[in-house]
Amino acid sequence: MDWNQEIVIQKLIEAVGNPARVLTEVQDIYSYSFDASFGVYKPDVVCQPMATEEVVEIVKVAGQYAVPVVARGTGTSLSGGPLPVRGGIVLDFTLWNTKLEIDPDDLIAVVSPGVITSKINEKANEFGLMYPPDPSSAHVSTIGGNLAENAGGPRGLKYGVTKDYVLGLEIVTAEGKIIKTGGRTVKNVTGYDLKN
Ligand SMILES: Cc1cc2nc3c(=O)[nH]c(=O)nc-3n(C[C@H](O)[C@H](O)[C@H](O)COP(=O)(O)OP(=O)(O)OC[C@H]3O[C@@H](n4cnc5c(N)ncnc54)[C@H](O)[C@@H]3O)c2cc1C
Repeated sequence: MDWNQEIVIQKLIEAVGNPARVLTEVQDIYSYSFDASFGVYKPDVVCQPMATEEVVEIVKVAGQYAVPVVARGTGTSLSGGPLPVRGGIVLDFTLWNTKLEIDPDDLIAVVSPGVITSKINEKANEFGLMYPPDPSSAHVSTIGGNLAENAGGPRGLKYGVTKDYVLGLEIVTAEGKIIKTGGRTVKNVTGYDLKN
C-alpha cells in the first residue's frame, strides 16, 4: 500500500457521511476477502454506500489517492470478481437494498444495486408478473452482482439471462461521473447502446 490510509479513511467517512459504514477493523473486513471461488485477498477498507452521490464521492477519493476500488454484492461469485486482489477499497452494496418498485403498467422494476434477486421475483409475483433470471443463488445474490456477471442459471434456456431483462442503468464511472444509459422502454434506440 503506497497511500496514506489515515487520510483516505477520513475522506471516505466524509464521503459516506457515517463512520459506521466505513469498516477498517480486521474482524469486520476479513469476510470481504473471499467469494465463492478461490483465493483470499484482504481489502484495506470497506465502504457501504447507500446512494449514488456517496459512490461518486468514494470513487473520487479513490482516484485522487490512487486506491483500487472493487464493487461487491453478497460475494457469491464463482469468478473472483469481487476480490480486492491489490487491496484498497471494497464497495459493499448490500445495505443499499432500499429501492424495489414494480410498475405493472410498464412491466418494469426499478431497483437499487443491493436488492436480493429473489425479492424482485417475489414482488413481481404480487402483480401476476415474474422476474425469471435465477443463477441458482437468487436467494442470496444481489441484482448488482447478477448484472456485472450477466448471471444465467437453469431458467436461462427458456427465459434468457440477466442482460435480457435490463432496460436502463445508472452508472458511476471511475472518474466519479454519473451516466444514464437505456431507459424505461424496450425501444430506446438513440445514442450509443452502452447498457449492453
Ligand atoms: C451455488 C451457486 C450457484 C451458481 N450458479 C450459477 C449459474 O447457474 N449461472 C450463473 O451465471 N452464475 C451462477 N452462480 C454465480 C452467480 O453469478 C453469482 O452468485 C451472482 O451473480 C453474484 O452476485 P453477488 O451479489 O454475490 O455478487 P458478488 O459475488 O459480490 O460480485 C460479483 C461481481 O459483480 C460485481 N458487482 C457487484 N455489485 C456491483 C455493483 N453494484 N456495480 C458494479 N459491479 C458490481 C463485483 O465487482 C463482482 O465482479 C452461482 C453461484 C452460487 C454460489
